[in-house]
Amino acid sequence: MKNIALLGSTGSIGTQTLQVIDEIKGFKIQILSAHKNTELIIQQALKYQPQFVILTDEGSFHKAKAALEHLPINVMLGIDGILRSLVETELDLVVAAISGASGIQPTLKALELGINVALANKETIVAAGYLAERIKVKTGAEIIPVDSEHSAIMQCLEPDSQSLEKIILTASGGPFWTYKHEDLYNVKPKEALKHPNWNMGKKITIDSATLMNKGLEVIEAHWLFNVAYDKIDVVIHPQSIIHSMVQYGDGSFLAHLGLPDMKVPIQYALTYPNRINNSFPKLDLTQIQKLEFFAPDHAKFPCLSLAYHVGKRGETLPIVLNAANEVAVELFLEERISFLEIPVLIETVLEKHNPFLEYSLEDLLEVDNWARMESRQYKNMR
Ligand code: NDP
Ligand code: MG
Repeated sequence: MKNIALLGSTGSIGTQTLQVIDEIKGFKIQILSAHKNTELIIQQALKYQPQFVILTDEGSFHKAKAALEHLPINVMLGIDGILRSLVETELDLVVAAISGASGIQPTLKALELGINVALANKETIVAAGYLAERIKVKTGAEIIPVDSEHSAIMQCLEPDSQSLEKIILTASGGPFWTYKHEDLYNVKPKEALKHPNWNMGKKITIDSATLMNKGLEVIEAHWLFNVAYDKIDVVIHPQSIIHSMVQYGDGSFLAHLGLPDMKVPIQYALTYPNRINNSFPKLDLTQIQKLEFFAPDHAKFPCLSLAYHVGKRGETLPIVLNAANEVAVELFLEERISFLEIPVLIETVLEKHNPFLEYSLEDLLEVDNWARMESRQYKNMR
């Protein structure tokens, strides 16, 4: 039996993780966390009987505490509550499925405690890759990717291969990849939230529409696989059947194929290094008429180039990129900025930042906070 903490249990990845656990068995949920979805986390707590339930929203915490009072479950508040629960529980794996930078501290704490992390929360590795690497070296904890592209790459990478030429991340292209630039002026959140192939949380769905999701994944790949940026390529593959590829010097490409179903990479992260059977729907290649590949249009989707630039330059810039992007997505969803203003806002804030190299968690939180404040003032800056 593996003891698991599921952080972000009410989200798209969180609920699919529970579906996988129901399917393959052998896991005991010890910690569940959410922000404010009390109704769902209470149902989950009643079903899985964890030691800890944590809500990061105060009103929701009081509701959950009252509802679970009669059970031997510790209901706690805030990121501090998550950190305490990690310290006080015997865990084999933390599933990091919180969305955004709020996932940074729990993930770093798990690594510090020497607990392996199944990482969905890519914002953590983008903003804190440098810190996570240093902690992993000290404690020996591993990060196992949940992101479908990185799970695919991990499975295609040959250990110690000198012959690696390129990592090729596939991208669906999102709902707008065939749009002309002028058609993007007036796109509304409702259209951007209609992802062609994946059903995900709002933040990552908007990131997929701007291609920032792929940009964040380029930085994620750099940190997870220790590969230079000029060896990481992106290709648009609208069918989302090839989840990513690795190209070797002898001309071979190794690819990972499957239906676009996050339960598959989630399961692999849970059972890694083992692969076990499940009864989920499987890919029927004869039903796939074609697999297409196109070069990404950097001019139409500048977020991808911004991420490459920031990744290469490094220092504290990825923290700013990530925080400014989170605020830009919120402002777009509230219809306070347009779709095309998202990269402009991020670039404006990046230009105001004086990056520096070696940073602590305190520095990271300070830079993140600064970038969020600057981003919220974007309209006044112009
Ligand atoms: P969702 O928005 O569906 O879920 C987010 C989860 O995090 C919910 O449980 C939510 O709680 C919780 N949460 C939100 N804000 C906070 C906060 N401030 N503090 C603590 N908890 C919070 O997101 P997804 O499941 O789609 O994505 C989760 C992560 O996985 C993201 O980093 C995303 O990039 C990554 N990912 C997702 C994929 C997908 O297919 N969905 C694919 C690959 C990566 P509540 O419900 O109460 O708000
Ligand atoms: Mg992905």
